[in-house]
Amino acid sequence: MSKILIKNIKELVQVLSADVKLLKGTEMSNLSTITGAWLLLENDTIIDFGEMNNCPDDNEIEVIDATGKMVFPAWCDSHTHIVFAKSREEEFVDRINGLTYQEIAAKGGGILNSAKKLENASEEELYTGALKRVNEIQLTGTGAVEIKSGYGLTVEAELKMLRVIKRLKQTCDITVKANFLGAHAIPVKYKDNRRGYIDLIINEMLPRIKEEGLADFIDVFCETNYYTPEEASEIIDAGKKIGLIPKFHTNQFTSIGGIQLGVANKALSVDHLEVMTDEDINDIASSDVMPTLLPSCSFFLNIPYAPAKKLINRGLPVCLATDFNPGSTPSGNMNFVLSLACINMKLTPEEAINAATINAAYAMGIESTHGSITKGKKANIFLTKEIPSYAFIPYYFGHNQIESLILNGKIMK
Ligand SMILES: [Zn+2]
Repeated sequence: MSKILIKNIKELVQVLSADVKLLKGTEMSNLSTITGAWLLLENDTIIDFGEMNNCPDDNEIEVIDATGKMVFPAWCDSHTHIVFAKSREEEFVDRINGLTYQEIAAKGGGILNSAKKLENASEEELYTGALKRVNEIQLTGTGAVEIKSGYGLTVEAELKMLRVIKRLKQTCDITVKANFLGAHAIPVKYKDNRRGYIDLIINEMLPRIKEEGLADFIDVFCETNYYTPEEASEIIDAGKKIGLIPKFHTNQFTSIGGIQLGVANKALSVDHLEVMTDEDINDIASSDVMPTLLPSCSFFLNIPYAPAKKLINRGLPVCLATDFNPGSTPSGNMNFVLSLACINMKLTPEEAINAATINAAYAMGIESTHGSITKGKKANIFLTKEIPSYAFIPYYFGHNQIESLILNGKIMK
């Protein structure tokens, strides 16, 4: 049995009771903390915490003195594509020279470019590359990550990606959720035979995924030039039949009904949402679907930011994630996401931290074990460096204020 007592914590951040599943509307402006605190971990679990004036005895316990430092629940990143074969900085240069994301996609770049590169990579190469990125995001405080397939777009390549994600799940201390995104784009081979590819997803990929237990979620890119709401609906239905929970990529460039589909299918989250009509906002407000916003994608592509404040003012929750991927967001740094959310979406630091912890855990279906400092939850936390306040994290943008990460009660760095 191993116990760790962290004491003299300047501020213990995001202390919630076990019944809080998410925070929405005005609830998001409150961040619950204890100043001058201690925290006790036993094996992989948060056992207890409190104010320093009733700190337990530290005989025969490993003690960390956190004087001047803060403790947070580790960030949850509910939207990433970190299994990929090659970076795509040549497209970055194309965009600097004036091409749009859509124009780059049309000339064989974008998702199809990643698919071509992934097809030739071995499972081992993909695993090694993804593991390196998992280690990178841990250094910036991430303790749970959702990873999508979707750069395979053939039966074998999609399964290859999902097997890599499964291996990460089994070998890493970070919590991993796997999302099957076979409907990320229409592969070149099926350009004139969309039906054929959808049949391949439904009749060949899904049964294999079920057989090998390769995914938790199913996702579709419901967007102009990608999948129509009708096609998305059919794919999501088939995924639900094998027990996968729906999520959607939608409203990144246009509003074509993805939100409504997410609501009708009781999706865990609808992600992107850079383009939202009033009707979209009204429809999502009547549901339990988590709006997930990806500000570093907006930053990198120079596209509008999702209307986070409008959603919160309408009483909705919001979640923040990185969208870490080689095309539109080559960064998995949640601290930078918080900075962008504060600077460009006008979230307060409290709203941004709530969006990246408890709400992000909800968007991954792990809110009963992650996303807050709560007795009985997983010992997945980080210690900051000495910082003046929690607002310093989004304020001091581009720097890393995470000093050490503890996952499952194990000190990672
Ligand atoms: Zn994405």
